[in-house]
Amino acid sequence: MAETLSALLQEGRTFPPPPDFAKDALITDASVYDDAERDWHGFWAKQALMLDWHREWDTVLEWELPFAKWFVGGKLNVSENCLDRHVRAGHGGQVALHWEGEPGDSRAVTYKELLDETSRVANLLRELGVAKGDRVAIYMGMVPETVAAMLACARIGAAHSVVFGGFTAQSLKDRINDAQARVLITADGAWRRGSVVALKDIADEALAETPSIEHVVVLRRTESECAMQAGRDLWWHDGVARQSADCTPESMDAEDLLFILYTSGTTGKPKGIMHTTGGYLTQVAYTHKYVFDLKPDTDVYWCTADVGWVTGHSYIVYGPLANRATSVLYEGTPDHPARDRLWSIVEKYKVTIFYTAPTAIRTFMKWGDEFPAAHDLSSLRLIGTVGEPINPEAWVWYYGTIGRERCPVVDTWWQTETGAIMISPLPGATTLKPGSATFPLPGIQADIVDDSGAPVGIPGGGYLVLTRPWPAMLRGIWGDPQRYRDTYWSRFGDKYFAGDGAKRDDDGYFWLLGRVDDIMLIAGHNISTTEVESALVDHPAVAEAAVVGRNDPTTGQAIAAFVTLRSGIEPGDELVEELRDHVAQLIGPIAKPKTILFSEELPKTRSGKIMRRLLRNVAEDDRLGDTTTLADPTVVDGIKAKYLASQPPEE
Ligand code: ATP
Ligand code: MG
Repeated sequence: MAETLSALLQEGRTFPPPPDFAKDALITDASVYDDAERDWHGFWAKQALMLDWHREWDTVLEWELPFAKWFVGGKLNVSENCLDRHVRAGHGGQVALHWEGEPGDSRAVTYKELLDETSRVANLLRELGVAKGDRVAIYMGMVPETVAAMLACARIGAAHSVVFGGFTAQSLKDRINDAQARVLITADGAWRRGSVVALKDIADEALAETPSIEHVVVLRRTESECAMQAGRDLWWHDGVARQSADCTPESMDAEDLLFILYTSGTTGKPKGIMHTTGGYLTQVAYTHKYVFDLKPDTDVYWCTADVGWVTGHSYIVYGPLANRATSVLYEGTPDHPARDRLWSIVEKYKVTIFYTAPTAIRTFMKWGDEFPAAHDLSSLRLIGTVGEPINPEAWVWYYGTIGRERCPVVDTWWQTETGAIMISPLPGATTLKPGSATFPLPGIQADIVDDSGAPVGIPGGGYLVLTRPWPAMLRGIWGDPQRYRDTYWSRFGDKYFAGDGAKRDDDGYFWLLGRVDDIMLIAGHNISTTEVESALVDHPAVAEAAVVGRNDPTTGQAIAAFVTLRSGIEPGDELVEELRDHVAQLIGPIAKPKTILFSEELPKTRSGKIMRRLLRNVAEDDRLGDTTTLADPTVVDGIKAKYLASQPPEE
């Protein structure tokens, strides 16, 4: 099977929209791209009109490079758009969230129930002195109350800063202090792989050094014991239950701050990315509707990200709720109690749209096909991915084994900074190529430029840039406007530089090649880590690979590969040679890894992205640098030890 897949990829097979999907798709005609270009301000204004506004805007866009203002003069409230609007239209009884707890408990939350809970939390926050313009930190697991807490902030005009529940006290403390949050909303604990993560204990450690926090609201989830500090801490069930379920939403300016969110930290110190109200909601609603082809009356939508990441903000909370989606929200890990948990949830709720990350897909590949095969996945009609480039082999596996060749795969490129999806197929209109995110969405403009900022044309490779503002774009870095200019606008002046490398093929398809900092220079040739990794993953024995360049006296840089094998495959010298030859065959002898190290795990950020920066250090036998956002720092030590023990013979 794997042999044929690899052959098929080399033949350059493409995938038009599956006919059963296309016949009911919202967009089936590529003319939307040209329509949007003819009047792109008008195009976005039309999308914004899908929302309810208290007051319509005067100007669609004011652009004073690098600061954009969208829908200037417009007034609206995000929580009202996500909740009240649907309840008023008679959909209060529709399920907003099918929540699945990790231990197996579950709860369906309707739009009316979510509105009431949100209003109560909003009233409590007001009682605690939180006002429009304040910041509230949220450090919780994946429970419906987390969604209500975010929407409650939006309702009263306070900006939330959600901190992923897997972060340490140090990370939480830094983020609270950076944003100067007045209130922290947390929980006694969260379920994670069968045990309790003691969120409140961790929070208490952080709270010892967060002078801006006046109150802490604590949700009881795991019934685990925790300390409550009198005067500062209160239980959610005490504080929220006694509130009225009526709370008038604050009328917010389109450009008022909605939230601050720190980036994953793959490339360095996290940045407090600021997102505002009108443009953000417009673009997340638009992209959620058309990229996922959402039919709110019939679809069951599931995004497996954590709310602590931007994917959770835009595609668990704001996009789906703005579009009146019925979503699944799952608390735990994919391997608890067994490796088929996600597929059993798909079967249980008859999920139709499924959105996950390449790291998860490669993990499922590694575990083996028997887990998805044990479940009825026939409800699925569209599947998506985000977070890293998806290797073609993983794409084909996802398409065949999960989508059963019926579901288009939407590979969506975007960032915390872009707020919403930017480059992605339109599933009913775009012919797919495995591993390509295809084209910028209608209304979006991207290009690929060389060192001097000149467009490289088609075909061609270089730096991915966004050439004009978009509604959900970041409005800056919290507290650091200079870092905003330096990070995104210093390299090419008038173009937003995303930090990623990309190429376009003869047909103009975009292929993301990973971070430009990761691109290797081997004997005078630029080689992208993504391409070598994809060639390795293409081999039937390989589930996942990370590739870095290390200094080499003869070639400038040499390629060092770290490889995770599929279940049941044994590493060995013969396999090393086979893999090196495989890469040489697919890309060319120059891309042959000089060293290959087998590893059970690869170092990843907590959002699941491979940390090449660290592996480079490992390969260079350098100091390891800042590992606080790593999933498991000991992994790196293990890899490093093995690496040093396996220094290859000189060629
Ligand atoms: P930091 O900016 O702090 O280093 P980060 O860039 O990992 O962290 P995110 O904003 O979560 O934080 O991730 C955005 C990045 O993820 C993109 O710049 C890109 O490198 C990668 N990415 C996301 N989706 C895709 C995709 N579909 N294809 C290729 N790369 C993707
Ligand atoms: Mg980034």
